[in-house]
Amino acid sequence: MQPLVLSVESFGRSYESHRAVDGLSFQLRAGEILGLVGPNGAGKTTTLRTIAGVLPVKEGRIVVGGFDLARDEERAKRNLRWIPDDPQPFDALTVLEHLEFTAALYGQRDWRARADELLERFELSEKRDAFGGELSRGMRQKLAFCCAWIARPALVLMDEPLSGLDPRGIRSAKHEIEELARAGTAVILSSHLLVLIEELATRLLILDRGRKVFEGTLDEARSRFPEHSRGSLEEIFFAATGEGAARKGGAGGAAT
Ligand code: ATP
Repeated sequence: MQPLVLSVESFGRSYESHRAVDGLSFQLRAGEILGLVGPNGAGKTTTLRTIAGVLPVKEGRIVVGGFDLARDEERAKRNLRWIPDDPQPFDALTVLEHLEFTAALYGQRDWRARADELLERFELSEKRDAFGGELSRGMRQKLAFCCAWIARPALVLMDEPLSGLDPRGIRSAKHEIEELARAGTAVILSSHLLVLIEELATRLLILDRGRKVFEGTLDEARSRFPEHSRGSLEEIFFAATGEGAARKGGAGGAAT
C-alpha cells in the first residue's frame, strides 16, 4: 500500500452561526487523485483552504506528510502546493523569477531545466520575462501550475484549476496531473466539471451542505446507488446530493 500523505480527522468549520463543514474525515495516499465534488456551498473551498494552511484549523486534526498542520505548520506546508481558482502572482516578479523563487523556497537546486520544460509545455515560454501583473487569468493559472510542479510536491490541492485555461492548456494540465500522480504525488482536484473528475480521479469525495455523502471509487458509487449501476458521475452526483438524497436518507447513510 502506498504511504499516507494526508489525514483529515473530524474536521469542522463554522462561520459565525453557519456550519460550513461538519465532522469531515478522509485520507489520501501517494499517487491518488481524489475528485472533490459537491454543490455550491458544500464546503469544498473551506476544506481545501484549511488543508492549504490559508485558514486555521479550529476543529479536528489535519496531518500532511506526517506533520500536524496546527502544531508543525511549516513542515506540514513544505509538503504541499495550493492552486486556487484565481491565482494572484507577484506584480514585481517575472514568470521566470516566480519559478526561481519557488524553487529556492522548496530547496530545489536544479530547477532551470524543469522550468524550461514546464514553460514550454504550458506555452508560457514567450512570457518568461513578463511580470505577474501583465498575465491573463489563464496565464496566471498556467504559472501557478508551473510553480506547483517545479519541486515535485507530496500533495497538490487544486480548486477549479482548469477554468481559465485554453484547450491546449487543459490538455497539458491533465497530462501533468496524471504524470505527477504516477510519480507519487497525491492530488486533490475540486471541480464542477464532472467529466474532468470522471476522467482523472481515482477516488471521489462528495460533500453536500458540509457533510461527506460519499467516499470511494466510481464503481463503488455505482454499487452504492444501484439505480445508477451504469451511470456517469453526473447521475451519481445528483443521486448523492440535494433534496432528493436527503429525503431518501441516502446522504447521511451513504457516508463511509
Ligand atoms: P462553491 O462550489 O460555490 O465554490 P464550496 O463547496 O467551495 O462552494 P465554500 O466556499 O467552502 O463552498 O462555502 C461553504 C459555506 O460556507 C457556504 O455556505 C458559504 O456561504 C460559507 N462561507 C464560506 N466562506 C465564508 C466566509 N468567509 N464568511 C461566511 N461564510 C462563508
